[in-house]
Amino acid sequence: MPKRFSPDEYAAGVLSGNRVLLSRAITLVESTLPSDQALAHEVMELVLPHAGKSVRVGITGVPGVGKSTFIEAFGNYLLEHHGKKLAVLAIDPTSQRTGGSILGDKTRMETLSANPKAYIRPSPAGKTLGGVARSTRESILLCEAAGFDVIFVETVGVGQSETAVHEMVDFFLLLMLAGAGDELQGIKKGIMEMADAIAITKADGANLSAATSAQAEYQGALHLFPLGASKWSPRVTVCSAFEKSGLAPIWELVTEYVQLTQGNGYFQHRRQEQNLHWLRHSIRQQLEERFYQHPAVKAQWEAVSGQVTQGQKSPFAAAAELFRLLT
Ligand code: GDP
Repeated sequence: MPKRFSPDEYAAGVLSGNRVLLSRAITLVESTLPSDQALAHEVMELVLPHAGKSVRVGITGVPGVGKSTFIEAFGNYLLEHHGKKLAVLAIDPTSQRTGGSILGDKTRMETLSANPKAYIRPSPAGKTLGGVARSTRESILLCEAAGFDVIFVETVGVGQSETAVHEMVDFFLLLMLAGAGDELQGIKKGIMEMADAIAITKADGANLSAATSAQAEYQGALHLFPLGASKWSPRVTVCSAFEKSGLAPIWELVTEYVQLTQGNGYFQHRRQEQNLHWLRHSIRQQLEERFYQHPAVKAQWEAVSGQVTQGQKSPFAAAAELFRLLT
């Protein structure tokens, strides 16, 4: 059992940029132990006034699109050419099933992880999407308080995790392959609609011309979506992580987006909305937990759920009956 620090010690460590304490604080927010959670809340209160000063970028795309290679190349570009400090977090709720966590593999992002200006944290394992999302959201704030001014949140381009990431970042970047077809890539229209930019990856060698035509095709498709409240029109670029080409234009898009939305007030408005989203999310989670942990509900659960599965009781009547036990 590692030594526990006081909330002040955690906060001071994080604020001074101490990576060991940052990691320990993230472990704390990932913990499901009630005593750890209480401590985590105190730490978060202390660091919150120092958080918020980064650009948060969500990065998604199906496995094989080149996410980790891209993040390494793009991350190194930001460190070298823009003097940024970068934290890379991940959301991969499937990792407990497949056994392999994204970012879990030590061989990934070798040069980036060796750079003292970068901090890479794998997806927390063994949790539901809701649990992973909550702790990743808190980890963003901890990394910001530790002085990281660009945060990447990586996710696999399938399922619900995109929506969770979209609710915690400022800019959402979708990576796509040329010539694979939307369906093959498992990309739903909803995910394309969330994208502030699409980057066609692996635009090198024999892939280059296919990448350029895909760029035109997707740009045409994006124009069909109505302009959102941000007033930003999503753009499509091409890049190659192997050749380190097309990276500068992607960062230019991010900064252009930030300038536009900070100017028209959308940036702040969106972060406020996201805060409210996570408040509601957390209330829902806690209500559900309290409900299922209630001794009277626990005692009746098997009987009542059995009646529902057998068709002897309607689910709605059963829910109402269980709720009455709480009062
Ligand atoms: P992820 O599963 O999305 O994280 O994808 P990876 O980063 O692991 O890359 C998947 C495969 O694509 C690997 O075999 C890479 O070598 C290859 N790849 C990644 N980036 C590039 C690139 O810029 N150009 C080319 N030609 N191949 C790439």
